[in-house]
Amino acid sequence: MDKMSIRVRKEVVQCLKCKELKVFIYLPDFAYGERLVFSNKGMPCAFIKLVDDQTYIEYEKLVRQILQDNLVETSEDKILRLVIETFGVTCDEIDNCKVDFAQNQKKCYFCGSTNFDKKLIEPESVITIELPLVSHKKWGSVEFKKKYELAKSELTRNNVFN
Ligand SMILES: [Zn+2]
Repeated sequence: MDKMSIRVRKEVVQCLKCKELKVFIYLPDFAYGERLVFSNKGMPCAFIKLVDDQTYIEYEKLVRQILQDNLVETSEDKILRLVIETFGVTCDEIDNCKVDFAQNQKKCYFCGSTNFDKKLIEPESVITIELPLVSHKKWGSVEFKKKYELAKSELTRNNVFN
């Protein structure tokens, strides 16, 4: 598994419910097409450069084709959101964790609350973290028909066809 060092902005705030500290990290604003991926606990778990990712381009095409085949008409915004939120289906597991782009870091590790104090506990800083790069080895080895099925079931789970 390839790893990459990434510079991120770090903010520390306090959970309003249990008062534990919570670290938020952000890519720089100019990091176009780059994304941090979070685990379901809200921990950073991977990094992806979507603009360089051939599988992302292929997957976007596939999603558009499935929508067309099923006569689903929806806005461009919704299509792009759908593509990214279901894109985890193409990704290899990382440390036995499924990659899920719909996850974010908005949850407290301790109590699950999503409410945080706006006040920073320490000054904002820039740190370097090392994260695995998202890969698509398994997806790359399956046939088109299987990819179509997998993507379609992801779209079904996202209520695209009702
Ligand atoms: Zn909490």
